[in-house]
Amino acid sequence: MIDGGDWKSADELFKKFDVNGDGVLDQEEFFLLCEEQFGEEEVKGNEWRLRDIFEKLDVNQDRGLKGAVWKRIFTEYIKPIVKPVNVLIVVDVQNDFIEGTLALRKYTSNQDGADVVEPINRLSKEARWDKVIYSLDWHPENHISFYENLSLRELHPTSKITKENAKPFDSVTFLQPHVEQTLWPRHCVMGTWGAELHKDLQILPESEQVHKGQDPDIEACSVFTKDKPKESSRLEKMLRKIGATDLYVCGLATDVCVKATCLDGLKLGYKVAMIEDCCRGVDNDNIEEAKRSIVEHGGLLTNSDRVICMVNEGRRSLIMAHHAANIISKAPSIPVDDKYPSTCACLLQNHIEQRS
Ligand SMILES: [Zn+2]
Repeated sequence: MIDGGDWKSADELFKKFDVNGDGVLDQEEFFLLCEEQFGEEEVKGNEWRLRDIFEKLDVNQDRGLKGAVWKRIFTEYIKPIVKPVNVLIVVDVQNDFIEGTLALRKYTSNQDGADVVEPINRLSKEARWDKVIYSLDWHPENHISFYENLSLRELHPTSKITKENAKPFDSVTFLQPHVEQTLWPRHCVMGTWGAELHKDLQILPESEQVHKGQDPDIEACSVFTKDKPKESSRLEKMLRKIGATDLYVCGLATDVCVKATCLDGLKLGYKVAMIEDCCRGVDNDNIEEAKRSIVEHGGLLTNSDRVICMVNEGRRSLIMAHHAANIISKAPSIPVDDKYPSTCACLLQNHIEQRS
């Protein structure tokens, strides 16, 4: 267990690490603070991250944290790291991706979607989650993503693939709505067996479910897909209600919906980890590309044993903390008081909403 220290306020923590007592937390003193919070093992070899985090947090670039800047860093950055609100997002562990029309093992990765059920059950029970959310791909019969529905909509003249040539998994461009769309075999039709969660997946009491892809004209890979363009998605609303800070994403398929959900979560300002041993995907090259992309955008790739340590024992990830620092440096400085939510994800959200 990492000792979070006996400090309770911004002032107490500041006093503890302002070793030379000059009223400024300089880089060296900030590194000491990080060593205490992340542990020597995590900090070792990651000094470049610490330097970059310090630079990002030092918003007025005066090589030190103090006064209002320090108060903001304490509330919006340090507190959510020390006391995270952890959410497990279990993506689309549904029959069609395991035994049905889009069963992963029929495709090039040769992975079996059923293999995620047992590790996810263990993870959901053993780690002390603030919330567990299960998503379900949940389409009407006439959904735009089904290869079988190609005859229902006109293609745009620029579509590289014509109706005559199109095969499942090709991408076409539709005229109305004007979108590029991968054509999947018909899957997860609402109310059918294929759309049900796998029978052995244990659904925790107090958990939530998010159904996605109900609009016939909107593809919904990411669990963050909005029902209405101008509103937040249902997942965002759920996360904001509980003040979520850290998202742990697993399920099916790594290179499609898990990837899209991780990238959206990162974009929205959450700290995100993808749990590799609890994910399975369609195509090996695309799985590797998905992992690269998640890392490039500031996400952590990890496994369920480490996640249990992180959630239950307070082990912290510098990669996730680095992402949060990047978000802080992009979000405007908002005065800190009780009226404002205290996580950087919420702050960034407010910023985006105020601008739009
Ligand atoms: Zn779908």
